[in-house]
Amino acid sequence: MRKKLLEQIERLKAAGASYVDARWYPVEEANQLVMWNGNLKSAAASRESGVGVRVLYRGAWGFSAASEIGNPGALFDKALDNARVAAGRVSFPVRLAHKLPVQASFQSPNLIDPFGVPLAEQIAFLRELDGELNQPGVTQRICELTFVRKQMVYLDSEGSEIEKRIIELFPGIQVMGLDPGGEAHGRKFTPSLSGATRGWESLDPALFSENAQRIAGELNQVLVAQSCPRDRRSVILLPGIMYLQTHETIGHALELDRILGYELAYAGGSFVKLEDFGTLSYGSAKLTARAAATLPNSPGSTGYDDDGVPAQDNLLIDRGLLVGAVTGRQMVQEANARAGREIFQGSSGANRATSFYRVPIERMTNINIDPGPDGSLDDIVRNTERGIILDGDRSWSIGSNREQFHFATDIGWLVEDGRVTRVVKNATYLGETVPFYHALSAVGDRSTWELRSVDNCGKGQPNQIMQLGHGIPVCRFDDVTIGE
Ligand SMILES: [Zn+2]
Repeated sequence: MRKKLLEQIERLKAAGASYVDARWYPVEEANQLVMWNGNLKSAAASRESGVGVRVLYRGAWGFSAASEIGNPGALFDKALDNARVAAGRVSFPVRLAHKLPVQASFQSPNLIDPFGVPLAEQIAFLRELDGELNQPGVTQRICELTFVRKQMVYLDSEGSEIEKRIIELFPGIQVMGLDPGGEAHGRKFTPSLSGATRGWESLDPALFSENAQRIAGELNQVLVAQSCPRDRRSVILLPGIMYLQTHETIGHALELDRILGYELAYAGGSFVKLEDFGTLSYGSAKLTARAAATLPNSPGSTGYDDDGVPAQDNLLIDRGLLVGAVTGRQMVQEANARAGREIFQGSSGANRATSFYRVPIERMTNINIDPGPDGSLDDIVRNTERGIILDGDRSWSIGSNREQFHFATDIGWLVEDGRVTRVVKNATYLGETVPFYHALSAVGDRSTWELRSVDNCGKGQPNQIMQLGHGIPVCRFDDVTIGE
């Protein structure tokens, strides 16, 4: 198959294409199990395979994909035809950022392939979790397991050849209950990626058991709690909500295709402008954010992106100053040309497609906040006069340009004079992105830092669901509106 694909790539080059790549997925499989109140509500399995071909012709992309690849010539011709048609309509001809050809392979860190674990054992694992969650006050228990296995072969006309084998495992548990007024509340737990691997062996029954007890107990505290007061206070965001704050107001805001307006029709734009790179003070000096695709164990670490560019660790915000973006090869030349200066030296290695039949677009890898000097969560609480600790993503609403936000969390703990006083329900906070990050007054140390995975980031037309990570410490922001 590789030989056939390489022959086609050469043929299209000879026909005038300036660049060609092929992504062959010999197999991609996904299984999802959902147990609801002790019943196996769904057990879904999908499996697909095929080839996607991207062609650049006179500055325009053409793409085609097929799962039936008996006639690769027709598949490649279609991609070239699409590019030829598009070439008459491009407003800014695509020029790819430079890269070096690589011959490489990448394997995600796993010991036990979850696809090799008998279904009965998987269900038994969920049933045990369900039993742990079955406690007074809990009216709904949800235990989920999703796992994905992909083999991808990437070939391009610049001499790169990369094979990736990736296994992902996304477990999660959730409880819900009703307060005396009949309003539903929930708590959930998804483990952080603290170990060296993420195969079946990473499911630690003791960790799940401990956290099942914790979330059921916290839910019961929420059910009898008073509502979050309307106030202005310091908010102390645990990684279980700070990951989403980072995702929505740093990660999405710094995707270069959004900044250039290419996502406006669907997912929105960004308040960030090209002239802001190197000049915009995004937050306080305590804020350092990076796109770290080199973390060893995360769904955002894939070794190479779908341009064949190696994973990198790039600063996005350096002690408050905006310095970088989430980029692939296709946008950086256009951004530099539009800005009239060289903002980006090359691709940041963040162009990814969700499957062989979608084109790669700028995607977050692992968008992380560096741990800070302000100690443990206890230290931060001790140094907070009037605050609220928040955790759990209950709901969120974000401005289409990511300039403002409103988050509701599963739980809040009020802090008075350096001590946690009581739990509140219906906790919310809101803000404007740049002033909010300027109010960042404490960043927890490594003991507070968690690497969390996201399995459902949506972007692109047609929509592409992507997996990634966020490495996040506890963060405190001062004088924030809560309870509205
Ligand atoms: Zn997203």
